Amino acid sequence: MRVVIAGAGTAGCVLAARLSADPGIDVVLLESGPHYRAGEWPPELSHAYRIIKETHDWGFTAQAGASPRGVHVPRGHVVGGSSITNAAIALRGLPEHYDDWAAFAPGLDWATMLPWFRFIETDTDFGSEPYHGDHGPIPIARHPRDTWYPLIERFAEAAVARGHAWVPDHNAPGAVGIGPTPFNMRDGKRQTPADHYLDPALSRDNLTLEVGVRVDRLVLDGTRATGLEAIREDTGERVTYEADHVILCLGTYQSPTVLLRSGVGPADAITPHGIKVVHELPGVGRGMQDHPKISYRFWIGSDIPQWPHPWIQALLTSKAEVNDEERLFQVMPYVGFVDGGHRISEINVQVADSRGRTGRVGIQSTNPMDQPVLHMGWMEEAGDRDLAVAAGRELLAVARTKPLADLLDEWPNLDDPDHALRTVETFHHPVASLRMGLASDPMAVTDGEGRIRGLDGVWCMDASVIPRVPSANTHLAVIALSEKLGAEFLTGTGYGSAAVSPPPAA
Ligand SMILES: Cc1cc2nc3c(=O)[nH]c(=O)nc-3n(C[C@H](O)[C@H](O)[C@H](O)COP(=O)(O)OP(=O)(O)OC[C@H]3O[C@@H](n4cnc5c(N)ncnc54)[C@H](O)[C@@H]3O)c2cc1C
Repeated sequence: MRVVIAGAGTAGCVLAARLSADPGIDVVLLESGPHYRAGEWPPELSHAYRIIKETHDWGFTAQAGASPRGVHVPRGHVVGGSSITNAAIALRGLPEHYDDWAAFAPGLDWATMLPWFRFIETDTDFGSEPYHGDHGPIPIARHPRDTWYPLIERFAEAAVARGHAWVPDHNAPGAVGIGPTPFNMRDGKRQTPADHYLDPALSRDNLTLEVGVRVDRLVLDGTRATGLEAIREDTGERVTYEADHVILCLGTYQSPTVLLRSGVGPADAITPHGIKVVHELPGVGRGMQDHPKISYRFWIGSDIPQWPHPWIQALLTSKAEVNDEERLFQVMPYVGFVDGGHRISEINVQVADSRGRTGRVGIQSTNPMDQPVLHMGWMEEAGDRDLAVAAGRELLAVARTKPLADLLDEWPNLDDPDHALRTVETFHHPVASLRMGLASDPMAVTDGEGRIRGLDGVWCMDASVIPRVPSANTHLAVIALSEKLGAEFLTGTGYGSAAVSPPPAA
């Protein structure tokens, strides 16, 4: 059996490693960005103390949503994908949000997902707890409190003084409060699926990684995929990769574009580009969700260490009542200079329990070298904006509480509800552009195993299929879900002896 995986990002690395564990499966992994091995990393990627937006980025611009602005929405352009350029924050989110996944696809509830979260991690602080793992590929740890910078320490003290609970482990089920941020980081270096899944598997004869390849569209015989068409970026040569199964792992912004260029999706997104509709699937690229982020800037009156240093050490989560419902937000203080080295710090609030579903992905032409058309839909759901305003008010209340208040001077006009609309940006967690759903759900694109509805031999197993954005950063959720979908794929295609399964929850 030959499987072509499009995209060697977070999910693609996990799946390539798991599927090629069976020598009977020939796995070809296609990626546009470069591949670096241990010791070869460029300096800006070699530590995890900030996100990377300047290099190894696709450079996409999106329409924000209710705020009429164009915004940069980064995505990693390198083997490892966004897991190489992200902030390495390793959070799971609240159990009830995974229970919401199960309403879209049975078997994705928290009780089913928790063993997979345990399976993928070695939590060096809490590994012995029944809800954690201590044998998995991704190491997770927190900065000890005695290493925190004065801004972070005072932020935590002020949050506790405001009545927020102290939370030693933000990944304990249901934890809400102030405490150390968990990271997939060791000695300041990101620990990712590229180095913990893909690289060890690359010595297998049945796994081929090809880089510098731009995936274009499916090769379809009716509604059955027989392969993928791609372009070699150095020569412009068109190449066809034959496959029994194609698995899309190009991420939330790009997996839908392959379907659209192949004539699979809503007719009004396909026919204007002269493409014939092969299979009308109204949900392709529609209903995308993300976490809107709002930044608050302060002048800081404490010493800031020289770069590089850990820029995030603690996290506050809290809830606010919106439309008679308690909804979650995150507040994340950063240590560092912004705006070219001035003594300014940013503290961000994130609408963690966001409900907006008006984000869209489209194509501007049939050319796979063109950017996708992205509309983020932030704040178009009124409750998301109300939650952002409430989160900002709580941040300002913490900032005005001692001992943090002694260290910070606010920029003017922060306490203005329109601040959220003026400054909203991505917190980098787009999902649901090919979301899972039941057969009776007209906007469902994938089933609970990642199969594209109405096609044969085509799957998607990246962040695009996540049916509802979890109340936390999405990296761990993508790894856990791709592990689960990979195991189900192996079992479903008759290669079950290679399928991994997590030990049951203790
Ligand atoms: C700047 C940033 C910061 C983030 N911070 C955090 C964080 O701290 N914690 C957290 O939990 N989450 C974070 N996230 C989110 C998290 O990293 C993503 O949810 C996750 O990595 C998505 O995985 P994926 O497999 O869906 O996509 P990706 O990992 O983005 O993989 C997609 C891959 O496909 C490749 N590709 C795309 N199109 C093509 C094409 N046409 N041809 C060939 N190859 C192609 C890309 O180059 C990439 O390698 C962050 C994301 C970003 C961008």
